[in-house]
Amino acid sequence: MTVIGLDDTDSRTEGMCTTYAAARLVECITDAGGTVDRTLLVRLNPAVEHKTRGNGALAVHCDLPAEQAVELATATLDMAAVDDPRTNPGVVIADCDPAAVPDPVRDHALAAVRRLLDIDTTRDRITAAGFEHAAVGNGRGLIGALAAVGAWRAVDDWTYERIAYRERERWGTDRIVDADSVRDAAKRHYPTVWDTVDRPSGYPVCVPRTPCPILYGIRGDDAEACRRVAADIESEPVARTHTFLTNQGTDAHLQIATLADLADDSAYRTSGTVREPPETQAGGHVFFVLGDGDVTVDCAAFEPTKRFRDRVRSLRVGDRLTVCGEVSDGTLKLEKFALRDRVETELVTPDCPDCGRSMSSAGRDQGYRCRDCDTHRDGKVHRQIDRDLERGWYEVPPVARRHIAKPLVRGGFDGPTHPER
Ligand code: ATP
Repeated sequence: MTVIGLDDTDSRTEGMCTTYAAARLVECITDAGGTVDRTLLVRLNPAVEHKTRGNGALAVHCDLPAEQAVELATATLDMAAVDDPRTNPGVVIADCDPAAVPDPVRDHALAAVRRLLDIDTTRDRITAAGFEHAAVGNGRGLIGALAAVGAWRAVDDWTYERIAYRERERWGTDRIVDADSVRDAAKRHYPTVWDTVDRPSGYPVCVPRTPCPILYGIRGDDAEACRRVAADIESEPVARTHTFLTNQGTDAHLQIATLADLADDSAYRTSGTVREPPETQAGGHVFFVLGDGDVTVDCAAFEPTKRFRDRVRSLRVGDRLTVCGEVSDGTLKLEKFALRDRVETELVTPDCPDCGRSMSSAGRDQGYRCRDCDTHRDGKVHRQIDRDLERGWYEVPPVARRHIAKPLVRGGFDGPTHPER
Protein backbone atom coordinates (compact mmCIF):
# COMPACT_ATOMS: atom_id res chain seq x y z
CA MET A 1 0.00 0.00 0.00
CA THR A 2 0.99 3.59 -0.56
CA VAL A 3 -0.36 6.59 1.34
CA ILE A 4 -0.21 10.02 -0.29
CA GLY A 5 -0.84 13.06 1.90
CA LEU A 6 -1.35 16.51 0.40
CA ASP A 7 -2.21 19.97 1.67
CA ASP A 8 -2.25 23.69 0.98
CA THR A 9 -2.95 23.77 -2.75
CA ASP A 10 -5.68 26.37 -2.55
CA SER A 11 -5.94 30.10 -2.24
CA ARG A 12 -8.57 32.53 -0.98
CA THR A 13 -8.28 34.63 -4.12
CA GLU A 14 -7.18 32.20 -6.85
CA GLY A 15 -9.80 29.51 -6.24
CA MET A 16 -8.72 25.82 -6.23
CA CYS A 17 -9.31 23.45 -3.35
CA THR A 18 -7.20 20.62 -2.00
CA THR A 19 -10.15 18.19 -2.13
CA TYR A 20 -10.27 18.87 -5.88
CA ALA A 21 -6.54 18.22 -6.25
CA ALA A 22 -7.05 14.91 -4.38
CA ALA A 23 -10.04 13.93 -6.55
CA ARG A 24 -7.93 14.62 -9.66
CA LEU A 25 -5.03 12.64 -8.19
CA VAL A 26 -7.39 9.70 -7.67
CA GLU A 27 -8.33 9.86 -11.36
CA CYS A 28 -4.64 9.93 -12.36
CA ILE A 29 -3.95 6.89 -10.14
CA THR A 30 -6.84 4.97 -11.70
CA ASP A 31 -5.75 6.01 -15.20
CA ALA A 32 -2.29 4.64 -14.37
CA GLY A 33 -3.85 1.25 -13.50
CA GLY A 34 -3.88 1.69 -9.72
CA THR A 35 -6.75 1.10 -7.29
CA VAL A 36 -7.74 3.65 -4.66
CA ASP A 37 -9.10 2.18 -1.41
CA ARG A 38 -10.23 5.47 0.09
CA THR A 39 -9.66 9.21 0.17
CA LEU A 40 -9.52 11.00 3.51
CA LEU A 41 -10.46 14.63 4.13
CA VAL A 42 -8.88 15.44 7.48
CA ARG A 43 -9.81 18.68 9.20
CA LEU A 44 -6.92 20.01 11.28
CA ASN A 45 -6.75 22.61 14.05
CA PRO A 46 -9.31 25.27 13.09
CA ALA A 47 -7.28 27.86 15.02
CA VAL A 48 -4.40 27.79 12.48
CA GLU A 49 -4.02 31.38 11.37
CA HIS A 50 -2.73 30.78 7.82
CA LYS A 51 -5.49 28.37 6.80
CA THR A 52 -7.43 29.32 3.68
CA ARG A 53 -10.82 28.26 5.00
CA GLY A 54 -11.47 24.97 6.77
CA ASN A 55 -7.90 23.72 7.33
CA GLY A 56 -8.41 20.48 5.46
CA ALA A 57 -5.63 18.05 4.45
CA LEU A 58 -6.12 15.05 2.15
CA ALA A 59 -4.85 11.48 1.99
CA VAL A 60 -5.20 8.95 -0.80
CA HIS A 61 -4.71 5.24 0.00
CA CYS A 62 -3.76 3.29 -3.12
CA ASP A 63 -1.87 0.27 -4.41
CA LEU A 64 0.52 1.99 -6.85
CA PRO A 65 4.22 1.45 -6.16
CA ALA A 66 5.57 4.38 -4.10
CA GLU A 67 7.90 5.61 -6.90
CA GLN A 68 4.98 5.95 -9.28
CA ALA A 69 2.85 7.60 -6.57
CA VAL A 70 5.64 10.14 -5.93
CA GLU A 71 5.55 11.12 -9.60
CA LEU A 72 1.78 11.57 -9.70
CA ALA A 73 1.61 13.33 -6.32
CA THR A 74 4.36 15.75 -7.28
CA ALA A 75 2.49 16.53 -10.49
CA THR A 76 -0.57 17.59 -8.43
CA LEU A 77 1.58 20.35 -6.90
CA ASP A 78 1.46 21.97 -10.36
CA MET A 79 -2.29 22.30 -9.88
CA ALA A 80 -1.76 24.42 -6.75
CA ALA A 81 -2.56 28.13 -6.77
CA VAL A 82 1.08 29.02 -6.09
CA ASP A 83 0.68 32.52 -7.56
CA ASP A 84 -0.72 33.32 -4.13
CA PRO A 85 2.35 33.65 -1.83
CA ARG A 86 0.25 32.27 1.05
CA THR A 87 -0.16 28.96 -0.80
CA ASN A 88 2.68 26.60 0.17
CA PRO A 89 1.70 23.13 -1.02
CA GLY A 90 3.27 19.91 0.19
CA VAL A 91 2.94 16.18 -0.48
CA VAL A 92 4.19 13.27 1.63
CA ILE A 93 4.31 9.71 0.26
CA ALA A 94 4.48 6.76 2.68
CA ASP A 95 5.45 3.34 1.34
CA CYS A 96 3.37 1.42 3.89
CA ASP A 97 -0.12 0.40 4.92
CA PRO A 98 -2.05 3.39 6.37
CA ALA A 99 -2.66 1.34 9.54
CA ALA A 100 1.09 0.76 9.91
CA VAL A 101 2.50 4.30 9.91
CA PRO A 102 4.98 4.80 12.78
CA ASP A 103 3.72 6.07 16.16
CA PRO A 104 5.31 9.56 15.78
CA VAL A 105 3.36 10.02 12.52
CA ARG A 106 0.10 9.04 14.23
CA ASP A 107 0.96 11.43 17.08
CA HIS A 108 1.68 14.20 14.57
CA ALA A 109 -1.82 13.70 13.14
CA LEU A 110 -3.39 13.87 16.61
CA ALA A 111 -1.42 17.00 17.47
CA ALA A 112 -2.20 18.72 14.14
CA VAL A 113 -5.90 18.61 15.00
CA ARG A 114 -5.39 20.18 18.41
CA ARG A 115 -2.24 22.28 18.55
CA LEU A 116 0.06 24.45 16.41
CA LEU A 117 2.98 22.63 14.80
CA ASP A 118 6.07 23.92 12.99
CA ILE A 119 7.63 23.10 9.64
CA ASP A 120 11.11 22.11 10.89
CA THR A 121 9.80 19.50 13.34
CA THR A 122 7.53 18.17 10.59
CA ARG A 123 10.46 17.81 8.16
CA ASP A 124 12.41 15.92 10.86
CA ARG A 125 9.47 13.55 11.37
CA ILE A 126 9.17 12.91 7.63
CA THR A 127 12.88 12.13 7.41
CA ALA A 128 12.78 9.88 10.50
CA ALA A 129 9.86 7.92 9.02
CA GLY A 130 11.75 7.56 5.70
CA PHE A 131 8.86 9.06 3.68
CA GLU A 132 9.25 10.78 0.31
CA HIS A 133 8.04 14.37 0.11
CA ALA A 134 7.89 17.40 -2.13
CA ALA A 135 6.94 21.00 -1.42
CA VAL A 136 6.71 24.43 -3.01
CA GLY A 137 7.29 27.76 -1.22
CA ASN A 138 8.05 27.53 2.48
CA GLY A 139 6.83 23.91 2.73
CA ARG A 140 4.11 24.63 5.27
CA GLY A 141 1.80 22.25 3.44
CA LEU A 142 3.99 19.38 4.68
CA ILE A 143 2.50 19.84 8.18
CA GLY A 144 -0.98 18.97 6.96
CA ALA A 145 0.25 16.43 4.41
CA LEU A 146 2.03 14.39 7.11
CA ALA A 147 -1.02 14.70 9.38
CA ALA A 148 -3.18 13.29 6.56
CA VAL A 149 -0.74 10.36 6.22
CA GLY A 150 -1.04 9.62 9.96
CA ALA A 151 -4.82 10.16 10.16
CA TRP A 152 -5.93 6.56 9.53
CA ARG A 153 -4.25 5.56 12.81
CA ALA A 154 -5.23 8.72 14.69
CA VAL A 155 -8.94 9.06 13.96
CA ASP A 156 -11.56 6.67 15.32
CA ASP A 157 -14.78 8.45 14.35
CA TRP A 158 -15.25 8.79 10.57
CA THR A 159 -18.06 10.48 8.68
CA TYR A 160 -18.56 11.03 4.93
CA GLU A 161 -18.76 13.91 2.49
CA ARG A 162 -19.92 13.52 -1.08
CA ILE A 163 -18.56 16.48 -3.07
CA ALA A 164 -19.78 17.54 -6.52
CA TYR A 165 -17.38 19.73 -8.53
CA ARG A 166 -18.18 22.42 -11.10
CA GLU A 167 -17.12 22.57 -14.71
CA ARG A 168 -13.81 24.44 -15.01
CA GLU A 169 -15.23 27.36 -17.01
CA ARG A 170 -17.83 28.10 -14.33
CA TRP A 171 -15.36 28.49 -11.44
CA GLY A 172 -15.77 31.91 -9.85
CA THR A 173 -19.27 32.47 -11.31
CA ASP A 174 -22.58 32.26 -9.39
CA ARG A 175 -23.59 28.67 -8.70
CA ILE A 176 -26.86 27.34 -10.10
CA VAL A 177 -28.34 24.96 -7.52
CA ASP A 178 -32.08 24.50 -7.01
CA ALA A 179 -32.55 25.20 -3.29
CA ASP A 180 -35.93 23.38 -3.16
CA SER A 181 -34.38 20.16 -4.46
CA VAL A 182 -31.66 20.49 -1.79
CA ARG A 183 -34.25 21.00 0.96
CA ASP A 184 -36.36 18.04 -0.19
CA ALA A 185 -33.41 15.66 -0.51
CA ALA A 186 -31.96 16.79 2.84
CA LYS A 187 -35.30 16.29 4.59
CA ARG A 188 -35.62 12.72 3.28
CA HIS A 189 -32.26 11.67 4.72
CA TYR A 190 -32.03 13.71 7.95
CA PRO A 191 -30.50 12.95 10.44
CA THR A 192 -28.23 10.38 8.68
CA VAL A 193 -27.26 13.29 6.46
CA TRP A 194 -26.77 16.53 8.38
CA ASP A 195 -25.80 20.19 7.91
CA THR A 196 -27.16 20.32 4.36
CA VAL A 197 -29.67 23.12 4.92
CA ASP A 198 -30.20 25.74 7.62
CA ARG A 199 -33.89 24.98 8.22
CA PRO A 200 -35.31 28.27 9.60
CA SER A 201 -33.74 30.35 6.83
CA GLY A 202 -33.88 27.58 4.19
CA TYR A 203 -30.30 28.45 3.27
CA PRO A 204 -28.44 25.55 1.58
CA VAL A 205 -25.28 25.41 3.70
CA CYS A 206 -23.95 22.62 1.48
CA VAL A 207 -23.29 25.13 -1.32
CA PRO A 208 -20.12 27.17 -0.69
CA ARG A 209 -19.87 30.87 -1.50
CA THR A 210 -16.14 30.94 -2.29
CA PRO A 211 -14.66 30.88 -5.85
CA CYS A 212 -13.53 27.24 -5.34
CA PRO A 213 -14.43 24.32 -7.70
CA ILE A 214 -16.97 22.78 -5.27
CA LEU A 215 -20.63 22.93 -6.30
CA TYR A 216 -21.94 21.32 -3.12
CA GLY A 217 -20.82 18.92 -0.38
CA ILE A 218 -23.19 16.50 1.34
CA ARG A 219 -22.18 15.38 4.84
CA GLY A 220 -23.42 12.49 6.89
CA ASP A 221 -22.89 9.21 8.70
CA ASP A 222 -23.54 6.97 5.73
CA ALA A 223 -21.82 7.18 2.34
CA GLU A 224 -24.79 5.81 0.41
CA ALA A 225 -27.24 8.30 1.98
CA CYS A 226 -24.86 11.19 1.11
CA ARG A 227 -24.65 9.87 -2.45
CA ARG A 228 -28.44 9.70 -2.72
CA VAL A 229 -28.95 13.26 -1.47
CA ALA A 230 -26.32 14.50 -3.94
CA ALA A 231 -27.95 12.60 -6.79
CA ASP A 232 -31.33 14.22 -6.06
CA ILE A 233 -30.06 17.80 -6.26
CA GLU A 234 -30.95 19.72 -9.41
CA SER A 235 -28.18 22.02 -10.53
CA GLU A 236 -25.82 23.20 -13.25
CA PRO A 237 -23.81 20.34 -14.83
CA VAL A 238 -21.57 18.43 -12.39
CA ALA A 239 -18.06 17.84 -13.75
CA ARG A 240 -17.07 15.12 -11.26
CA THR A 241 -18.04 13.74 -7.86
CA HIS A 242 -16.03 12.14 -5.11
CA THR A 243 -16.82 10.64 -1.70
CA PHE A 244 -14.39 11.37 1.13
CA LEU A 245 -14.03 9.71 4.50
CA THR A 246 -13.58 12.53 6.98
CA ASN A 247 -13.25 13.57 10.62
CA GLN A 248 -15.80 16.33 10.01
CA GLY A 249 -18.58 16.48 12.56
CA THR A 250 -16.62 14.62 15.25
CA ASP A 251 -15.32 17.24 17.77
CA ALA A 252 -11.84 15.72 17.34
CA HIS A 253 -10.35 19.18 17.94
CA LEU A 254 -11.63 19.51 21.53
CA GLN A 255 -9.24 18.93 24.43
CA ILE A 256 -10.71 18.33 27.86
CA ALA A 257 -9.25 20.90 30.24
CA THR A 258 -9.93 23.03 33.30
CA LEU A 259 -10.40 26.78 32.82
CA ALA A 260 -6.92 27.32 34.27
CA ASP A 261 -5.35 25.20 31.51
CA LEU A 262 -6.82 27.04 28.50
CA ALA A 263 -4.34 28.55 26.04
CA ASP A 264 -4.71 30.44 22.77
CA ASP A 265 -4.92 28.65 19.40
CA SER A 266 -6.51 25.40 20.59
CA ALA A 267 -10.07 24.30 21.19
CA TYR A 268 -11.42 22.90 24.46
CA ARG A 269 -14.27 21.35 26.36
CA THR A 270 -14.24 22.87 29.83
CA SER A 271 -16.57 23.67 32.73
CA GLY A 272 -17.41 26.56 35.00
CA THR A 273 -20.08 28.80 36.47
CA VAL A 274 -21.48 31.94 34.86
CA ARG A 275 -19.90 34.78 36.83
CA GLU A 276 -21.01 37.83 34.84
CA PRO A 277 -24.25 37.91 32.86
CA PRO A 278 -24.41 37.81 29.05
CA GLU A 279 -24.09 41.20 27.42
CA THR A 280 -24.74 42.04 23.77
CA GLN A 281 -21.99 44.27 22.42
CA ALA A 282 -21.44 46.27 19.21
CA GLY A 283 -22.01 44.13 16.12
CA GLY A 284 -24.46 41.83 17.95
CA HIS A 285 -21.76 39.69 19.59
CA VAL A 286 -22.74 38.27 22.99
CA PHE A 287 -20.18 37.90 25.80
CA PHE A 288 -20.32 36.52 29.34
CA VAL A 289 -17.75 35.56 31.96
CA LEU A 290 -17.30 31.94 33.06
CA GLY A 291 -15.41 31.18 36.26
CA ASP A 292 -13.92 28.27 38.16
CA GLY A 293 -12.24 29.07 41.49
CA ASP A 294 -10.00 32.08 40.94
CA VAL A 295 -9.91 31.71 37.16
CA THR A 296 -12.30 33.51 34.81
CA VAL A 297 -12.56 33.39 31.00
CA ASP A 298 -14.59 35.49 28.56
CA CYS A 299 -16.92 33.39 26.41
CA ALA A 300 -18.32 34.74 23.15
CA ALA A 301 -21.17 33.90 20.80
CA PHE A 302 -20.45 35.98 17.71
CA GLU A 303 -23.06 37.51 15.43
CA PRO A 304 -22.80 34.78 12.72
CA THR A 305 -23.99 32.22 15.30
CA LYS A 306 -27.42 33.88 14.92
CA ARG A 307 -30.17 32.29 17.08
CA PHE A 308 -27.60 30.47 19.25
CA ARG A 309 -27.03 33.91 20.81
CA ASP A 310 -30.57 33.82 22.25
CA ARG A 311 -29.67 30.64 24.13
CA VAL A 312 -26.54 32.36 25.46
CA ARG A 313 -28.51 35.48 26.39
CA SER A 314 -30.79 33.27 28.53
CA LEU A 315 -27.92 32.25 30.81
CA ARG A 316 -27.87 33.65 34.36
CA VAL A 317 -25.14 34.23 36.87
CA GLY A 318 -24.71 31.01 38.85
CA ASP A 319 -25.59 28.60 36.01
CA ARG A 320 -23.17 25.63 35.79
CA LEU A 321 -21.99 24.98 32.25
CA THR A 322 -19.80 22.79 30.10
CA VAL A 323 -18.58 24.89 27.16
CA CYS A 324 -16.81 23.92 23.91
CA GLY A 325 -14.90 26.18 21.56
CA GLU A 326 -11.64 27.60 20.35
CA VAL A 327 -9.63 30.03 22.45
CA SER A 328 -8.03 33.03 20.80
CA ASP A 329 -6.90 36.26 22.41
CA GLY A 330 -8.00 34.76 25.71
CA THR A 331 -11.65 34.47 24.62
CA LEU A 332 -13.45 31.15 24.17
CA LYS A 333 -15.56 31.26 20.99
CA LEU A 334 -18.55 29.10 21.77
CA GLU A 335 -19.42 26.21 19.43
CA LYS A 336 -21.76 24.51 21.89
CA PHE A 337 -22.52 24.43 25.60
CA ALA A 338 -24.39 22.27 28.09
CA LEU A 339 -26.48 23.83 30.83
CA ARG A 340 -25.82 21.44 33.74
CA ASP A 341 -27.27 23.16 36.84
CA ARG A 342 -29.72 25.94 36.45
CA VAL A 343 -30.24 28.81 38.85
CA GLU A 344 -33.93 28.49 39.76
CA THR A 345 -34.45 31.33 42.24
CA GLU A 346 -33.31 34.87 42.80
CA LEU A 347 -33.15 37.03 45.93
CA VAL A 348 -35.64 39.89 45.81
CA THR A 349 -37.15 42.53 48.10
CA PRO A 350 -40.17 40.89 49.80
CA ASP A 351 -43.78 41.86 49.07
CA CYS A 352 -46.05 42.80 51.98
CA PRO A 353 -48.07 39.71 53.05
CA ASP A 354 -51.14 41.93 53.62
CA CYS A 355 -51.31 44.46 50.75
CA GLY A 356 -48.96 42.67 48.28
CA ARG A 357 -46.92 45.81 47.54
CA SER A 358 -43.13 45.80 47.59
CA MET A 359 -41.78 46.46 51.07
CA SER A 360 -39.18 49.11 51.77
CA SER A 361 -35.93 48.95 53.69
CA ALA A 362 -36.32 49.37 57.44
CA GLY A 363 -32.73 50.65 57.68
CA ARG A 364 -29.28 49.08 57.48
CA ASP A 365 -29.46 45.42 58.58
CA GLN A 366 -33.02 46.01 59.84
CA GLY A 367 -34.85 44.04 57.17
CA TYR A 368 -37.93 45.30 55.30
CA ARG A 369 -41.27 46.72 56.38
CA CYS A 370 -44.56 47.94 55.01
CA ARG A 371 -45.42 51.29 56.57
CA ASP A 372 -49.11 51.05 55.66
CA CYS A 373 -49.70 47.57 57.10
CA ASP A 374 -46.95 47.63 59.75
CA THR A 375 -45.59 44.24 58.60
CA HIS A 376 -41.95 43.20 58.78
CA ARG A 377 -39.55 40.77 57.04
CA ASP A 378 -35.97 39.99 58.13
CA GLY A 379 -34.35 40.20 54.69
CA LYS A 380 -34.64 39.46 50.98
CA VAL A 381 -36.61 36.38 49.97
CA HIS A 382 -36.10 33.72 47.26
CA ARG A 383 -38.35 34.06 44.23
CA GLN A 384 -38.77 31.38 41.56
CA ILE A 385 -37.34 32.44 38.22
CA ASP A 386 -39.22 31.64 35.04
CA ARG A 387 -36.35 30.08 33.02
CA ASP A 388 -36.81 29.59 29.29
CA LEU A 389 -33.65 27.47 28.95
CA GLU A 390 -33.85 23.74 29.68
CA ARG A 391 -30.89 21.71 30.91
CA GLY A 392 -28.81 20.07 28.19
CA TRP A 393 -26.67 20.77 25.16
CA TYR A 394 -27.14 23.73 22.77
CA GLU A 395 -25.18 24.36 19.57
CA VAL A 396 -24.60 26.95 16.85
CA PRO A 397 -26.82 26.52 13.75
CA PRO A 398 -25.49 24.60 10.72
CA VAL A 399 -24.70 27.86 8.94
CA ALA A 400 -22.16 28.76 11.65
CA ARG A 401 -20.78 25.27 12.32
CA ARG A 402 -17.07 24.55 12.02
CA HIS A 403 -16.37 21.58 9.75
CA ILE A 404 -14.89 19.56 12.59
CA ALA A 405 -17.56 20.38 15.20
CA LYS A 406 -19.94 17.54 16.03
CA PRO A 407 -23.62 18.28 15.40
CA LEU A 408 -25.75 17.30 18.40
CA VAL A 409 -27.96 15.21 16.16
CA ARG A 410 -25.09 12.72 15.76
CA GLY A 411 -25.65 11.72 19.39
CA GLY A 412 -23.32 10.42 22.09
CA PHE A 413 -23.64 13.50 24.32
CA ASP A 414 -23.83 13.24 28.12
CA GLY A 415 -27.17 14.91 28.62
CA PRO A 416 -30.32 15.98 26.82
CA THR A 417 -29.65 17.64 23.47
CA HIS A 418 -31.40 20.49 21.67
CA PRO A 419 -30.14 20.03 18.07
CA GLU A 420 -30.19 22.88 15.56
CA ARG A 421 -31.14 22.06 12.01
P1 ATP B 1 -9.38 24.55 2.36
O1 ATP B 1 -10.44 24.79 3.38
O2 ATP B 1 -9.77 25.12 1.04
O3 ATP B 1 -8.99 23.11 2.29
P2 ATP B 1 -7.39 25.17 4.16
O4 ATP B 1 -8.23 25.97 5.09
O5 ATP B 1 -7.17 23.73 4.33
O6 ATP B 1 -8.05 25.36 2.78
P3 ATP B 1 -4.61 25.52 3.67
O7 ATP B 1 -4.41 26.34 2.46
O8 ATP B 1 -4.47 24.06 3.57
O9 ATP B 1 -6.02 25.92 4.26
O10 ATP B 1 -3.64 26.11 4.78
C1 ATP B 1 -3.45 25.53 6.05
C2 ATP B 1 -1.95 25.43 6.31
O11 ATP B 1 -1.73 25.23 7.69
C3 ATP B 1 -1.32 24.27 5.58
O12 ATP B 1 -0.07 24.68 5.09
C4 ATP B 1 -1.12 23.22 6.68
O13 ATP B 1 -0.03 22.36 6.45
C5 ATP B 1 -0.91 24.09 7.88
N1 ATP B 1 -1.36 23.47 9.12
C6 ATP B 1 -2.37 22.59 9.28
N2 ATP B 1 -2.49 22.23 10.57
C7 ATP B 1 -1.54 22.88 11.24
C8 ATP B 1 -1.15 22.92 12.63
N3 ATP B 1 -1.81 22.21 13.55
N4 ATP B 1 -0.13 23.72 12.97
C9 ATP B 1 0.50 24.46 12.03
N5 ATP B 1 0.21 24.47 10.73
C10 ATP B 1 -0.81 23.69 10.32
